[in-house]
Amino acid sequence: MSAALEIRNLHVSVEGEPILKGVNLIVRQGEIHALMGPNGSGKSTLSYTIMGHPAYEVTAGQVIFDGVDILELEPDERSRLGLFLAFQYPVAIPGVTVANFLRNAINARRRAENPEDKGIPIPAFRKLLIEKMDMLKMDHDFAGRYLNDGFSGGEKKRAEILQMAVLEPKIAIMDETDSGLDIDALRVVSEGVNRLAGPNLGVLVITHYQRILNYIKPQFVHIMMDGQIVESGGPDLALHLEEHGYDWLREKQNGNER
Ligand code: ADP
Ligand code: MG
Repeated sequence: MSAALEIRNLHVSVEGEPILKGVNLIVRQGEIHALMGPNGSGKSTLSYTIMGHPAYEVTAGQVIFDGVDILELEPDERSRLGLFLAFQYPVAIPGVTVANFLRNAINARRRAENPEDKGIPIPAFRKLLIEKMDMLKMDHDFAGRYLNDGFSGGEKKRAEILQMAVLEPKIAIMDETDSGLDIDALRVVSEGVNRLAGPNLGVLVITHYQRILNYIKPQFVHIMMDGQIVESGGPDLALHLEEHGYDWLREKQNGNER
């Protein structure tokens, strides 16, 4: 059976301030979803909450992954279930190469399953890494770079995509969190997602960049405003947004409230 990430009536507060106000969303393996919305609408709050960031307090609702309520789990337990949530430590790690970081990530997962595990043998790891870099059309030199040390927004995302390729999650959440409007980063994420997409991978791409369809082909598009998903549809919704912006949605929202 294919796995699904189900967000049910999720309410989240940050420093006592309600930010998410009842989010509902289902992402299944094999589906590509785009979550869009203006700055400050709560998109990153959603991804940090799914990640298990301690500053984000869930006041109501559930996040179910593969039948398990993950809100009680540690971030690494969430990842072991097959949920990919970008880097848990998106800082520069001096002296640690991208390859070392990825090997540690694989070994940590293996040891969590079997404390006796000796880790992936280096030749097997090398083969895996090269296979994945080739699939993503990445320069092999990238694996020897120090992780995030002076990385551009695009290079950070490249490392993230490579980590995703190596860990083979069931559902991945890609947020533009720290890259803002960086087109290069969005391009890297989109190309990576397009190459890795398939029946075993579900993806939620989070962006406020309206021309996302130039880069990625989501089957589902959702729009978040003021902590709620106010509209869901197909790719035509993103096209509509590109043409008309978010104002028509604000007016519709105000109309609903009246
Ligand atoms: P988006 O990703 O859609 O731009 P965010 O989730 O980053 O939106 O932010 C939604 C709201 O939550 C904003 O008003 C922001 O100021 C607030 N917020 C988010 N994270 C924090 C935080 N760690 N501390 C204080 N306020 C936060
Ligand atoms: Mg954000």
